[in-house]
Amino acid sequence: MSVHFKKLALIGIGLIGSSIALAARRQGLVEVISIATRRQETLDEARELGLGDIYTLDAAEAVRGADLVILCAPVGAYAALAEAIGPHMEPGAILSDVGSVKEHVVRVVGPHVPQGVSFIPGHPIAGTEHSGPSAGFAELFAGRWCVLTPTQGVPQADTDRLVSFWQAMGSMVECMDAAHHDMVLAITSHIPHLVAYNIVGTVADLEAATQSEVIKFSASGFRDFTRIAASDPVMWRDVFLTNKDAVLEMLGRFSEDLSVLQRAVRNGDGAALETMFTRTRAIRRSIIDAGQETAAPDFGRPHETPPTPDVPFVREHGGGDDA
Ligand code: NAP
Repeated sequence: MSVHFKKLALIGIGLIGSSIALAARRQGLVEVISIATRRQETLDEARELGLGDIYTLDAAEAVRGADLVILCAPVGAYAALAEAIGPHMEPGAILSDVGSVKEHVVRVVGPHVPQGVSFIPGHPIAGTEHSGPSAGFAELFAGRWCVLTPTQGVPQADTDRLVSFWQAMGSMVECMDAAHHDMVLAITSHIPHLVAYNIVGTVADLEAATQSEVIKFSASGFRDFTRIAASDPVMWRDVFLTNKDAVLEMLGRFSEDLSVLQRAVRNGDGAALETMFTRTRAIRRSIIDAGQETAAPDFGRPHETPPTPDVPFVREHGGGDDA
């Protein structure tokens, strides 16, 4: 199904908003892109990058005449934004978002959605640890899943249009219930981030001498946690404030499993450890087979081969990195 919108309004223009602007433009999915953000510097940066056609600090102005509005700000800003734009949205328009939690979004945005506007929350499972308008790139969503959680009473035709929009930007799309999304993402994304923040935080609290050794020998594992723990502090604060129940439920299970591992280590139970690590290795294999990670050595990081007398210096290129 080919899809086309006459005016796309992006409220918030960081990593995700700018990637949508670039991908939608490249695929010819929209005629006009209007961009609203909170700070003048961010708006100026978006303009310099040529991400849209209309730039404003007034979200209400941005959504006037738009047939597709996507909230791309941190989730904590949604309630105030929805209240501001609600009265200015046109009947027949689709309102969506990209927030990493969904039940909270339905709860705080839903009451401000006017009659005749189709509210279809969304979450592209794609990202990096970088933020801001210059962090975006048109290929961000290629081969990545986007989850949509259509609300009650939304016409199927509108959901189909939004599905086609994301597919045209390279995504695979799945529709599900908001609560189910939050439970799945708690374990696949939110808990791994909490664990990474905790490990890196523990190192930050170590005395200086040990800390410098951790940094020196970080390639032994710690380094991979630091990438996740470098993710945007405001965005992740909002995730844990707004997906509290699902995160606590999954954290409970995680802690129980950690205790089992702790006991196996204490008891020197090699068989239990080996069984567990064999199961986890199979999960990584299935993620690679599903095309959600590269099989390249060292997560596809570029490697330099030291020069030898008769072999020129070589730099290999690997795959990308997603949060
Ligand atoms: P980001 O790069 O930090 O950008 C956030 C944008 O929102 C900035 O343009 C910021 O503008 C704007 N903003 C903040 N408060 C605002 C407000 N009150 N009104 C209007 N604009 C406001 O963040 P991001 O990574 O794109 O994340 C945006 C959303 O995508 C979040 O809801 C997040 O949960 C979701 N998400 C993120 C990822 C990821 O990996 N990063 C993945 C999937 C989904 P100013 O500079 O003007 O404040």
